[in-house]
Amino acid sequence: MKVDLAIVVPCYNEEEVLNETTRQLTAVLADLEVAGKIKAGKIVYVDDGSRDRTWELICSFARQDGRVCGLKLAHNAGHQRALWAGMEWAAGHAEAAVSIDADLQDDVQAIGEMVDAWRGGADVVYGVRQERKTDTFFKKHTAQAFYRLMNALGGEVVYNHADFRLMDKRALQALLAYPERNLFLRGMVASLGFRTAKVYYDRKERMAGESKYPLGKMVSFALDGITSFSVRPLRYIAMLGFLFILIAVVAIIYGVVVYCQGNTIPGWTSLLVSVWFIGGSILLALGIIGEYVGKIYKEVKRRPHYFVAEEAGMD
Ligand code: UDP
Ligand code: MG
Repeated sequence: MKVDLAIVVPCYNEEEVLNETTRQLTAVLADLEVAGKIKAGKIVYVDDGSRDRTWELICSFARQDGRVCGLKLAHNAGHQRALWAGMEWAAGHAEAAVSIDADLQDDVQAIGEMVDAWRGGADVVYGVRQERKTDTFFKKHTAQAFYRLMNALGGEVVYNHADFRLMDKRALQALLAYPERNLFLRGMVASLGFRTAKVYYDRKERMAGESKYPLGKMVSFALDGITSFSVRPLRYIAMLGFLFILIAVVAIIYGVVVYCQGNTIPGWTSLLVSVWFIGGSILLALGIIGEYVGKIYKEVKRRPHYFVAEEAGMD
């Protein structure tokens, strides 16, 4: 089975949205086919170890409609790995793949524009959020702070672009050649190069169900992003250490001078404060180094990203 365009949709406990998602995405594919922009398209649902009826729904859609197929991962591997699984399938079966979340927060109409940009010669087309009217104040500001921090630390990310993008076969194959276990796809894709284009859209509210990215997961994803793409935090630690040594040298000189003058100072407060401060800095430094050591540990284990437990609609 060969198709022009695969739409890869990771799903984790998405029974509430899948009906509507399937309806809208099949309509998009049908429109593209009618308009002659693609010959055949496919929706690839990747069930990321859901515990609700997600997989049953995917199987029934696959039976009803030849445009739908699905992979069921054996375990909840995480959003990025679910995407990876779908893209691996797409690299073997499609000319290009669009990745989009199951909750349709990203505008499905932008897929048409992405296909146009791809046909116009782009290998990677980024979906970029124009505004975040519907995001909560908190989500909007934490997300933007993240993009800024990431860029300041030297990790390449496209501002306001998440995982809604089109990649053609060439870009997919290049991405799949990355051997690392820690997946931070938006950063990895940005570092591929090739010809890129951007398509702008408005981000909507989740159709139904709850976010599968609670604060804890979001923070750990952001940390992963930074530590997978930048070693600058380590360098900042060294710089901080250097600064402290300078301060210490000044303090020693000052201490000796004061001692020679015969003014003994009580100094209890300053001592107490510096002990805490230095202790805290050392722990922070160790924590950051530990984060990288943990990454190395994960990488050397070279575990597979996922296992496929079942398939639907694959002929
Ligand atoms: N998702 C997944 N595995 C997970 C968590 C999320 O496949 O462990 C999927 C989820 O079903 C959705 C997408 O990743 O299609 C993005 O999740 P969500 O919309 O909950 O994140 P948010 O938009 O709130 O950041
Ligand atoms: Mg969402």
